[in-house]
Amino acid sequence: MIRRHGNPDTLTITQEPAPVPQPGQVRIRIRATALNHLDTWVRRGVPGHHFPLPLIPGSDIAGIVDASDDPGLPVGTEVVAAPFVSCGHCEACRAGNDVACPAYAILGEHVNGGCAEFVCVPSTHVLRKPANLTFPEAASILLAPLTAFHMLHTRARVARGETVLVTAAAGGVGSAAVQLAALAGARVIALVGSETKRAAVSALGASEVVVLPRDGDPSSVLKDALGKPAFDIVIDSVGDRTFEAGLRHLKRFGRLVTCGATAGAAPTIDLRRLFFLSLSVLGSTMGSLPELAAVLALAASGDLKPVVHAVLPLAELPTAHRLLEAREVIGKVVVQP
Ligand SMILES: [Zn+2]
Repeated sequence: MIRRHGNPDTLTITQEPAPVPQPGQVRIRIRATALNHLDTWVRRGVPGHHFPLPLIPGSDIAGIVDASDDPGLPVGTEVVAAPFVSCGHCEACRAGNDVACPAYAILGEHVNGGCAEFVCVPSTHVLRKPANLTFPEAASILLAPLTAFHMLHTRARVARGETVLVTAAAGGVGSAAVQLAALAGARVIALVGSETKRAAVSALGASEVVVLPRDGDPSSVLKDALGKPAFDIVIDSVGDRTFEAGLRHLKRFGRLVTCGATAGAAPTIDLRRLFFLSLSVLGSTMGSLPELAAVLALAASGDLKPVVHAVLPLAELPTAHRLLEAREVIGKVVVQP
Protein backbone atom coordinates (compact mmCIF):
# COMPACT_ATOMS: atom_id res chain seq x y z
CA MET A 1 0.00 0.00 0.00
CA ILE A 2 1.25 3.50 -0.86
CA ARG A 3 -0.02 5.93 1.81
CA ARG A 4 2.49 8.70 1.02
CA HIS A 5 5.08 9.22 -1.71
CA GLY A 6 8.71 8.50 -0.96
CA ASN A 7 11.50 5.91 -1.04
CA PRO A 8 10.83 2.13 -1.21
CA ASP A 9 10.48 1.94 2.59
CA THR A 10 7.25 3.97 2.38
CA LEU A 11 5.61 0.84 0.89
CA THR A 12 3.68 -0.76 3.73
CA ILE A 13 2.01 -4.17 4.04
CA THR A 14 -1.41 -3.84 5.68
CA GLN A 15 -4.21 -6.27 6.56
CA GLU A 16 -7.42 -5.28 4.78
CA PRO A 17 -10.67 -7.17 4.24
CA ALA A 18 -10.82 -8.87 0.83
CA PRO A 19 -12.50 -6.52 -1.70
CA VAL A 20 -16.11 -7.38 -2.59
CA PRO A 21 -16.79 -7.68 -6.34
CA GLN A 22 -19.35 -5.19 -7.71
CA PRO A 23 -21.88 -6.28 -10.36
CA GLY A 24 -19.97 -7.19 -13.53
CA GLN A 25 -16.72 -7.71 -11.64
CA VAL A 26 -14.80 -10.86 -10.79
CA ARG A 27 -12.45 -11.24 -7.84
CA ILE A 28 -9.03 -12.69 -8.63
CA ARG A 29 -6.87 -14.45 -6.05
CA ILE A 30 -3.52 -13.05 -7.14
CA ARG A 31 -0.67 -15.48 -7.78
CA ALA A 32 1.85 -13.12 -9.37
CA THR A 33 2.21 -9.40 -10.12
CA ALA A 34 4.89 -8.02 -12.42
CA LEU A 35 6.31 -4.58 -11.73
CA ASN A 36 6.88 -1.75 -14.19
CA HIS A 37 8.81 1.52 -13.96
CA LEU A 38 5.33 3.01 -13.57
CA ASP A 39 5.23 1.44 -10.06
CA THR A 40 8.29 3.43 -9.01
CA TRP A 41 6.84 6.68 -10.43
CA VAL A 42 3.58 6.13 -8.53
CA ARG A 43 5.54 5.42 -5.34
CA ARG A 44 7.88 8.43 -5.70
CA GLY A 45 5.14 10.79 -6.88
CA VAL A 46 5.34 13.06 -9.91
CA PRO A 47 5.33 16.86 -9.39
CA GLY A 48 2.06 18.33 -10.62
CA HIS A 49 0.39 14.92 -10.92
CA HIS A 50 -2.22 13.61 -8.49
CA PHE A 51 -2.35 9.93 -7.52
CA PRO A 52 -5.39 8.75 -5.50
CA LEU A 53 -3.60 7.72 -2.27
CA PRO A 54 -3.85 5.44 -0.43
CA LEU A 55 -3.34 3.15 -3.40
CA ILE A 56 -2.35 -0.46 -3.98
CA PRO A 57 0.29 -0.39 -6.77
CA GLY A 58 0.92 -3.04 -9.43
CA SER A 59 -0.53 -3.21 -12.96
CA ASP A 60 0.30 -6.71 -14.22
CA ILE A 61 -1.78 -9.41 -12.54
CA ALA A 62 -2.04 -13.18 -13.01
CA GLY A 63 -4.15 -15.34 -10.73
CA ILE A 64 -7.20 -17.54 -10.23
CA VAL A 65 -10.85 -16.46 -10.34
CA ASP A 66 -12.08 -16.53 -6.75
CA ALA A 67 -15.58 -15.01 -7.01
CA SER A 68 -17.57 -14.55 -10.21
CA ASP A 69 -21.10 -14.23 -11.59
CA ASP A 70 -19.80 -14.56 -15.17
CA PRO A 71 -20.53 -18.08 -16.51
CA GLY A 72 -17.61 -17.64 -18.92
CA LEU A 73 -15.17 -17.18 -16.03
CA PRO A 74 -16.08 -19.74 -13.35
CA VAL A 75 -14.31 -19.85 -9.99
CA GLY A 76 -10.96 -21.62 -10.43
CA THR A 77 -10.20 -20.30 -13.94
CA GLU A 78 -6.56 -19.31 -14.39
CA VAL A 79 -6.55 -15.75 -15.72
CA VAL A 80 -4.69 -12.52 -16.28
CA ALA A 81 -6.21 -9.07 -15.82
CA ALA A 82 -5.81 -6.35 -18.43
CA PRO A 83 -3.56 -3.69 -16.85
CA PHE A 84 -6.33 -1.14 -17.39
CA VAL A 85 -10.08 -0.73 -17.14
CA SER A 86 -12.32 1.09 -19.63
CA CYS A 87 -16.10 1.62 -19.79
CA GLY A 88 -16.71 -1.02 -22.49
CA HIS A 89 -19.67 0.77 -24.09
CA CYS A 90 -18.53 4.19 -25.38
CA GLU A 91 -17.79 4.73 -29.08
CA ALA A 92 -14.01 4.26 -28.57
CA CYS A 93 -14.45 1.02 -26.59
CA ARG A 94 -16.93 -0.40 -29.12
CA ALA A 95 -14.38 0.35 -31.89
CA GLY A 96 -11.70 -1.60 -29.97
CA ASN A 97 -9.81 1.61 -29.24
CA ASP A 98 -10.05 1.55 -25.43
CA VAL A 99 -7.10 3.94 -25.05
CA ALA A 100 -9.42 6.75 -26.19
CA CYS A 101 -12.11 5.84 -23.61
CA PRO A 102 -12.80 8.75 -21.23
CA ALA A 103 -12.96 6.21 -18.38
CA TYR A 104 -9.61 4.55 -19.25
CA ALA A 105 -7.76 3.92 -15.97
CA ILE A 106 -4.55 2.00 -15.24
CA LEU A 107 -4.48 -0.56 -12.42
CA GLY A 108 -2.04 0.54 -9.72
CA GLU A 109 -2.05 4.15 -10.93
CA HIS A 110 -5.67 5.35 -11.03
CA VAL A 111 -7.35 2.41 -9.27
CA ASN A 112 -6.12 -0.28 -6.86
CA GLY A 113 -3.73 -2.76 -8.47
CA GLY A 114 -2.09 -6.10 -7.90
CA CYS A 115 0.41 -5.85 -5.04
CA ALA A 116 -2.14 -7.61 -2.84
CA GLU A 117 -3.79 -11.00 -2.31
CA PHE A 118 -7.02 -10.08 -4.14
CA VAL A 119 -8.21 -7.63 -6.77
CA CYS A 120 -11.65 -6.98 -8.26
CA VAL A 121 -11.80 -6.10 -11.96
CA PRO A 122 -14.54 -6.03 -14.63
CA SER A 123 -15.02 -9.51 -16.12
CA THR A 124 -14.74 -7.88 -19.57
CA HIS A 125 -11.09 -7.09 -18.72
CA VAL A 126 -10.15 -10.63 -17.62
CA LEU A 127 -8.50 -12.95 -20.13
CA ARG A 128 -7.52 -16.61 -19.85
CA LYS A 129 -3.90 -17.24 -18.87
CA PRO A 130 -1.96 -19.00 -21.65
CA ALA A 131 -1.66 -22.58 -20.38
CA ASN A 132 2.02 -22.82 -21.36
CA LEU A 133 3.01 -20.01 -18.98
CA THR A 134 3.58 -20.00 -15.22
CA PHE A 135 1.82 -17.25 -13.22
CA PRO A 136 5.00 -15.09 -13.00
CA GLU A 137 5.53 -15.53 -16.75
CA ALA A 138 1.91 -14.64 -17.52
CA ALA A 139 2.11 -11.50 -15.34
CA SER A 140 5.21 -10.51 -17.35
CA ILE A 141 3.51 -10.35 -20.75
CA LEU A 142 0.90 -7.67 -20.02
CA LEU A 143 1.56 -3.91 -19.74
CA ALA A 144 5.04 -3.77 -21.29
CA PRO A 145 4.43 -6.05 -24.31
CA LEU A 146 1.04 -4.38 -24.84
CA THR A 147 2.81 -0.99 -24.90
CA ALA A 148 5.44 -2.34 -27.33
CA PHE A 149 2.76 -3.88 -29.57
CA HIS A 150 0.79 -0.61 -29.75
CA MET A 151 3.99 1.38 -30.49
CA LEU A 152 5.17 -0.93 -33.27
CA HIS A 153 1.96 -1.94 -34.99
CA THR A 154 -0.64 0.76 -34.31
CA ARG A 155 1.58 3.84 -34.10
CA ALA A 156 4.67 3.09 -36.27
CA ARG A 157 2.96 0.54 -38.58
CA VAL A 158 6.07 -1.61 -38.82
CA ALA A 159 6.54 -3.43 -42.15
CA ARG A 160 8.59 -6.49 -43.13
CA GLY A 161 12.18 -5.60 -44.06
CA GLU A 162 12.32 -2.34 -42.10
CA THR A 163 15.14 -1.54 -39.68
CA VAL A 164 14.04 -0.87 -36.11
CA LEU A 165 16.14 0.59 -33.29
CA VAL A 166 14.95 -0.43 -29.82
CA THR A 167 16.44 1.58 -26.94
CA ALA A 168 16.64 0.20 -23.37
CA ALA A 169 16.24 -3.14 -25.11
CA ALA A 170 16.69 -5.28 -21.98
CA GLY A 171 13.82 -3.55 -20.19
CA GLY A 172 10.18 -4.61 -20.08
CA VAL A 173 9.01 -2.65 -23.14
CA GLY A 174 12.36 -3.08 -24.90
CA SER A 175 12.62 -6.86 -24.56
CA ALA A 176 9.09 -7.21 -25.94
CA ALA A 177 9.70 -4.68 -28.73
CA VAL A 178 12.80 -6.60 -29.89
CA GLN A 179 10.78 -9.82 -30.15
CA LEU A 180 7.69 -8.23 -31.73
CA ALA A 181 9.74 -6.33 -34.33
CA ALA A 182 11.67 -9.49 -35.25
CA LEU A 183 8.36 -11.42 -35.49
CA ALA A 184 7.09 -8.71 -37.86
CA GLY A 185 10.04 -9.41 -40.16
CA ALA A 186 12.05 -6.30 -39.26
CA ARG A 187 15.81 -6.12 -38.74
CA VAL A 188 16.28 -5.15 -35.11
CA ILE A 189 19.15 -3.11 -33.68
CA ALA A 190 19.09 -3.14 -29.87
CA LEU A 191 20.67 -0.54 -27.60
CA VAL A 192 21.51 -1.73 -24.06
CA GLY A 193 23.24 -0.15 -21.08
CA SER A 194 25.74 -2.84 -20.17
CA GLU A 195 27.73 -5.72 -21.64
CA THR A 196 25.95 -8.21 -19.31
CA LYS A 197 22.69 -7.61 -21.22
CA ARG A 198 24.13 -8.35 -24.68
CA ALA A 199 23.61 -12.12 -24.82
CA ALA A 200 20.06 -12.02 -23.43
CA VAL A 201 18.92 -9.40 -25.95
CA SER A 202 20.64 -11.23 -28.85
CA ALA A 203 18.67 -14.33 -27.92
CA LEU A 204 15.40 -12.36 -28.27
CA GLY A 205 16.05 -11.86 -31.99
CA ALA A 206 18.13 -8.67 -32.28
CA SER A 207 20.40 -8.67 -35.35
CA GLU A 208 22.86 -6.38 -33.60
CA VAL A 209 23.26 -5.30 -30.00
CA VAL A 210 25.03 -2.01 -29.28
CA VAL A 211 26.25 -1.36 -25.73
CA LEU A 212 25.97 2.24 -24.56
CA PRO A 213 28.48 3.04 -21.78
CA ARG A 214 27.04 4.93 -18.81
CA ASP A 215 28.38 8.32 -19.92
CA GLY A 216 28.56 7.49 -23.62
CA ASP A 217 26.95 9.69 -26.26
CA PRO A 218 24.25 7.48 -27.85
CA SER A 219 24.57 9.12 -31.27
CA SER A 220 28.32 8.57 -31.65
CA VAL A 221 28.15 5.11 -30.03
CA LEU A 222 25.56 4.05 -32.65
CA LYS A 223 27.68 5.58 -35.44
CA ASP A 224 30.87 3.86 -34.25
CA ALA A 225 29.10 0.48 -34.00
CA LEU A 226 27.01 0.60 -37.19
CA GLY A 227 28.87 2.86 -39.61
CA LYS A 228 26.20 5.25 -40.86
CA PRO A 229 23.04 4.08 -39.08
CA ALA A 230 19.68 4.65 -40.79
CA PHE A 231 16.53 3.46 -39.05
CA ASP A 232 12.97 3.28 -40.34
CA ILE A 233 11.61 3.15 -36.80
CA VAL A 234 12.94 4.03 -33.35
CA ILE A 235 11.15 2.59 -30.31
CA ASP A 236 12.24 4.75 -27.37
CA SER A 237 11.35 4.72 -23.68
CA VAL A 238 14.46 6.60 -22.49
CA GLY A 239 14.06 10.17 -23.74
CA ASP A 240 16.75 12.84 -23.56
CA ARG A 241 19.97 12.13 -25.54
CA THR A 242 18.80 8.67 -26.63
CA PHE A 243 15.68 10.22 -28.18
CA GLU A 244 17.91 12.81 -29.90
CA ALA A 245 20.21 10.08 -31.25
CA GLY A 246 17.27 8.07 -32.55
CA LEU A 247 15.84 11.10 -34.33
CA ARG A 248 19.27 11.97 -35.79
CA HIS A 249 19.61 8.52 -37.37
CA LEU A 250 16.12 8.13 -38.82
CA LYS A 251 15.96 7.77 -42.59
CA ARG A 252 13.44 9.56 -44.84
CA PHE A 253 9.81 8.90 -43.71
CA GLY A 254 11.18 7.43 -40.48
CA ARG A 255 9.04 7.25 -37.32
CA LEU A 256 10.18 7.67 -33.74
CA VAL A 257 7.70 6.40 -31.15
CA THR A 258 8.13 7.47 -27.51
CA CYS A 259 6.44 5.89 -24.49
CA GLY A 260 8.67 7.12 -21.68
CA ALA A 261 11.30 9.57 -20.51
CA THR A 262 13.26 7.74 -17.81
CA ALA A 263 16.41 9.77 -18.62
CA GLY A 264 14.76 13.14 -19.26
CA ALA A 265 11.71 14.69 -20.86
CA ALA A 266 13.15 17.70 -22.73
CA PRO A 267 15.26 16.53 -25.69
CA THR A 268 16.31 18.96 -28.42
CA ILE A 269 14.67 18.47 -31.81
CA ASP A 270 16.19 19.85 -35.04
CA LEU A 271 13.05 20.82 -36.92
CA ARG A 272 14.95 21.04 -40.23
CA ARG A 273 15.64 17.29 -40.11
CA LEU A 274 12.03 16.69 -39.16
CA PHE A 275 10.54 18.49 -42.18
CA PHE A 276 13.26 17.86 -44.79
CA LEU A 277 13.10 14.10 -44.22
CA SER A 278 9.34 13.92 -43.54
CA LEU A 279 9.94 12.33 -40.14
CA SER A 280 7.21 11.53 -37.61
CA VAL A 281 7.47 11.74 -33.82
CA LEU A 282 4.66 9.72 -32.26
CA GLY A 283 3.56 9.45 -28.65
CA SER A 284 2.16 6.18 -27.33
CA THR A 285 0.64 4.91 -24.09
CA MET A 286 -0.50 1.36 -23.34
CA GLY A 287 -2.92 -0.27 -25.79
CA SER A 288 -6.37 -1.78 -26.24
CA LEU A 289 -8.12 -5.03 -25.27
CA PRO A 290 -7.91 -6.45 -28.84
CA GLU A 291 -4.17 -5.68 -28.84
CA LEU A 292 -3.75 -7.41 -25.47
CA ALA A 293 -5.55 -10.47 -26.87
CA ALA A 294 -3.09 -10.46 -29.79
CA VAL A 295 -0.13 -10.28 -27.39
CA LEU A 296 -1.51 -13.19 -25.33
CA ALA A 297 -2.02 -15.25 -28.51
CA LEU A 298 1.64 -14.69 -29.45
CA ALA A 299 2.66 -15.81 -25.96
CA ALA A 300 0.37 -18.86 -26.10
CA SER A 301 1.95 -19.97 -29.39
CA GLY A 302 5.44 -19.57 -27.90
CA ASP A 303 6.44 -16.83 -30.38
CA LEU A 304 6.58 -14.13 -27.70
CA LYS A 305 8.62 -15.22 -24.70
CA PRO A 306 8.20 -13.66 -21.27
CA VAL A 307 11.48 -12.44 -19.81
CA VAL A 308 11.45 -12.83 -16.01
CA HIS A 309 14.43 -11.41 -14.12
CA ALA A 310 13.43 -12.31 -10.56
CA VAL A 311 10.45 -13.54 -8.51
CA LEU A 312 10.23 -12.24 -4.92
CA PRO A 313 7.66 -12.62 -2.12
CA LEU A 314 5.22 -9.69 -1.93
CA ALA A 315 6.62 -8.84 1.52
CA GLU A 316 9.88 -7.93 -0.25
CA LEU A 317 8.21 -5.30 -2.48
CA PRO A 318 10.65 -2.56 -1.33
CA THR A 319 13.57 -4.78 -2.48
CA ALA A 320 11.79 -5.38 -5.78
CA HIS A 321 11.44 -1.61 -6.31
CA ARG A 322 15.15 -1.09 -5.54
CA LEU A 323 16.07 -3.83 -8.01
CA LEU A 324 14.07 -2.09 -10.73
CA GLU A 325 15.59 1.29 -9.93
CA ALA A 326 19.16 -0.08 -10.06
CA ARG A 327 18.63 -0.62 -13.82
CA GLU A 328 20.52 -3.92 -13.92
CA VAL A 329 17.34 -5.87 -14.63
CA ILE A 330 16.80 -7.98 -17.74
CA GLY A 331 13.03 -8.29 -18.23
CA LYS A 332 10.51 -8.26 -15.41
CA VAL A 333 10.64 -8.27 -11.62
CA VAL A 334 7.68 -10.21 -10.22
CA VAL A 335 6.22 -10.39 -6.70
CA GLN A 336 4.02 -13.17 -5.29
CA PRO A 337 1.71 -13.00 -2.27
ZN1 LIG B 1 -15.21 3.45 -23.08
